[in-house]
Amino acid sequence: MRVWDLHCDTLSELRYAENDGKPLSFRKNQLQIDLERLRRGDYLLQCFACFVNLGRKKENPLVSCLEQIDIFYRLLEEYSEDLVQIRTPEDIRKLPESGKIGAMLTVEEGAVCLDDLRMLRNLYRLGVRMMTLTWNYENGLASPNIVPGDAMQVWPCEPVTDRGLTEKGRAFLEEMERLHMILDVSHLSDGGIMDVLELARRPFAASHSNARSKCGHVRNLTDEMIRKMGEKGCIVGLNYCASFLDPSADRSHVRSTIHDMAVHARYLMNLGGEDLLALGSDFDGIEGDLEIAGAQDLPKLAEGLKKEGFTEREIEKIFYKNAMRFFEENL
Ligand SMILES: [Zn+2]
Repeated sequence: MRVWDLHCDTLSELRYAENDGKPLSFRKNQLQIDLERLRRGDYLLQCFACFVNLGRKKENPLVSCLEQIDIFYRLLEEYSEDLVQIRTPEDIRKLPESGKIGAMLTVEEGAVCLDDLRMLRNLYRLGVRMMTLTWNYENGLASPNIVPGDAMQVWPCEPVTDRGLTEKGRAFLEEMERLHMILDVSHLSDGGIMDVLELARRPFAASHSNARSKCGHVRNLTDEMIRKMGEKGCIVGLNYCASFLDPSADRSHVRSTIHDMAVHARYLMNLGGEDLLALGSDFDGIEGDLEIAGAQDLPKLAEGLKKEGFTEREIEKIFYKNAMRFFEENL
């Protein structure tokens, strides 16, 4: 089964390793994603996020992002037989016959644009096709639901409903829509997601978020959000992170299981429609007890969902067809 994954943090892991003087091979490494694993998993496309942690205060966010974009372009050069960059609907149409794995550049942390629309446009020119307004820190564009180190970060923490998009964040939404860069609401506060639902004229994404009714983490989407996103033709990537899947009361032993993934998947599809759901692994950004432990395990997930009662057609839609159609229509 082909795979189209909306989110991974592999580029930032490669950057940390390189900056520590211990560069990793992309052909084969100890991360959750490398070329061999992507091939074994039968990947059609991986979205590669430039993830920037604003908590690392000595780093300029834009420079951190550009360093990751440089790594992305070096991967495309070094593995040109295996990887092909995807920027346009035409690229997507040609992808299945190319025999290559599509690679789409995305950003996780809107502050990399330094609140400047000119930087946003430059990132688009470099190939960035989807971006979250925030990660877990407040920035000039919007508020997230969780701030690291905050007392609020305790399970089950309260969502932020009163702070959403700033004036600048609204200007970013408008410019991203004009460019056809997909706005990604994962990590955004509840207030921010409601703002986007009200203001957006084009479909948008939650690249790696699950259903809050099935696991009460504030990184997950409420029923209202899921329903409205379905109505608007949006896409949601199922996140494999144990903390966003497992509803157990004991938060010290949460696990990421195929069963819980199936529970969230079924719930998201029932509420948002069968075109809503895709995969958003969060690989190389998650750790712990993972039944699907890396890109090589995706055939096991397809098999597991079948046992959980999903039809072949539903699995195809979740694994790649919904995402492929979404990007072909909206880039
Ligand atoms: Zn994330």
